Amino acid sequence: MGEEEAYEWFKSARWPATGGEPTCPKCSCTGANDRPGRRFRCKDCQAEFSVTSGTILASRKLSFQTLLRAIVLSVQSVKGKAACQLKRELGVDYKTAFVLLHKFREAIAILRRALRLDGTVEIDGMYVGGHLRPKNRKEDRVDGRLAENQTGKREAVMAMRERGPGGQTLAAAVPDERADVARHLTGNHVVPDAGLRADQHAAYDNLAGPNRLTRNNHSKAYVETPDASTNQAESLFSRLRRAEIGIHHRIAGKYLDWYAADVAWREDKRRTDFREQAKAVLAAALAHPISRDMAGYWQRTRKRYTALVAWNPLAGLRVATPA
Ligand SMILES: [Zn+2]
Repeated sequence: MGEEEAYEWFKSARWPATGGEPTCPKCSCTGANDRPGRRFRCKDCQAEFSVTSGTILASRKLSFQTLLRAIVLSVQSVKGKAACQLKRELGVDYKTAFVLLHKFREAIAILRRALRLDGTVEIDGMYVGGHLRPKNRKEDRVDGRLAENQTGKREAVMAMRERGPGGQTLAAAVPDERADVARHLTGNHVVPDAGLRADQHAAYDNLAGPNRLTRNNHSKAYVETPDASTNQAESLFSRLRRAEIGIHHRIAGKYLDWYAADVAWREDKRRTDFREQAKAVLAAALAHPISRDMAGYWQRTRKRYTALVAWNPLAGLRVATPA
């Protein structure tokens, strides 16, 4: 695919309603004159814009071809894409690859916040980060399960997953696997007459509101009755754990929520062909406004958790600590 064809993909993804005909981002009218450098000027309000104006890919420096290639290379990776690998494949700087991949994740994560799950929904939690390196000598080692020995860096991901083919998954970084968090998530993302499945963790004790709740006791059996398991949610965690270990090496921290959403998206789209997956990522990126969190090339000076506080529905529950 050449630059011109890649540009056509961008136009179709940005303006699907008009079949790729430019629509003014200010006044939404469709008449626009061509300007040099693949820009347009609105006939009505005279605003000048391009195919990426006002989107997360605005002020791009990479060609359309390279951006599209980044998307394709990312969706072709089963468990996620490492910035270091994309850097080598595209011949760009590491920071460029890092920011680009996070912009795709951010756009996908925002879209998935609108998910409403139905049917039979499994809910479960996992912990990420806060690894305690065992001391060299056995007598110096401590029990990592005790609160006083933990690093304080451990974070949780909770996932809700519809059973059956085509079932959708919502995964979010949360303060802890806790009852108020579980209630908040199910209240916002599960339709009232769906059935819930959870394990015996205390977080799910008071979960049944409008939903019918079935529990599975893992200390007795992984699957007590065929209907009671949370194996689909566990399967998502398995993929997230492998993405952490095998691709990213460390995913806890301010971007955890985006990684969780990215893995859930990959899980849900695993049977969709790459072309459609690439189109979906491009459409998500071009429907997403300019990122406040992925501005510039490096975010080290930003406060921790700004990304989460800005858009996590559970933001109020998280203690935002500037780092
Ligand atoms: Zn206009």
